[in-house]
Amino acid sequence: MSAKQACDSCTSSTCSSRPRDLQETDEQYAARQRLAERTAKIRHKILVLSGKGGVGKSTVAANLAMHLALNGRRVGLLDVDIHGPSIPRLFGLEGKATYMVGESMMPLEFSVNLKIMSIAFCLSDSDAALIWRGPMKIGVIRQFLADVEWGDLDYLIVDCPPGTGDEPLSAVQMLNDADGAVVVTTPQTISVDDVRRSISFCRKLSLPVLGVIENMSGFACPKCGEITDIFGAGGGEDMAKSMGVPFLGRIPIDPAVRETCDQGKPHAYYNSKTPSGLAFAAAFDPLLALPERECDGPQA
Ligand code: ADP
Repeated sequence: MSAKQACDSCTSSTCSSRPRDLQETDEQYAARQRLAERTAKIRHKILVLSGKGGVGKSTVAANLAMHLALNGRRVGLLDVDIHGPSIPRLFGLEGKATYMVGESMMPLEFSVNLKIMSIAFCLSDSDAALIWRGPMKIGVIRQFLADVEWGDLDYLIVDCPPGTGDEPLSAVQMLNDADGAVVVTTPQTISVDDVRRSISFCRKLSLPVLGVIENMSGFACPKCGEITDIFGAGGGEDMAKSMGVPFLGRIPIDPAVRETCDQGKPHAYYNSKTPSGLAFAAAFDPLLALPERECDGPQA
């Protein structure tokens, strides 16, 4: 079935390409059309999820975007962590601001083929706490997808806040044809338990799980080289196996990862040949060759 036929017969209430609803206002219809037009220019959409905070989800999202860009892909990185945006820091873009060109918001460019957008680029005070309820957050995410001048992209990477709340749910619904999610965990049981919920969230939304990454998996002592499994090891891999989803790889704890993050220098760019840099690359390489995806009908 062609994409056009699929759209004509589709009854999804969330897809941005569906025919006009009778109860839709002109404004709502125009907003939905804008969203459909923008997202149609993006070939692959990947959400990065985690069950809990602090497991390295933003670090993985930033380095995944960087790895894809280093391999010649045109990449957008969208930070939908409205309450704790950390992507600007990871790229040394703190304090920078978006600006408007016509009706479009301009993303910041880390390099010519890596564009970045975050709520932090819209705030005059980066330390301000946003006390927003669901509808406001959903409105901002819609704007980031519909009104940002992403242009033609090979990949959009969406860094979601931890858990299964409004932000990942809205992003999945607005990107009706996302390729899937990369789920980040650490090896210890408590994190792995939380990530099971992320996987069942994906299943409920018919969002494929592209793979699990076990971050902070083992620490190689820089003095003696001995590997210590500070948080245990293999928990993410075992969980991926038991839940029938792909396992993409383990990333060791490496002080240089934290240092490059703090300095705003993406590890995948500055330390690509270190063991941790190579581990990131090996985990991300399968995502360079995603099959083309056609919308396959309504979501749950
Ligand atoms: P999350 O997005 O899950 O809250 P972050 O990506 O912000 O987590 O990472 C939390 C902290 O852990 C950051 O200081 C980051 O630099 C550090 N970190 C992430 N992965 C690693 C790693 N493999 N080795 C060392 N530090 C890491």
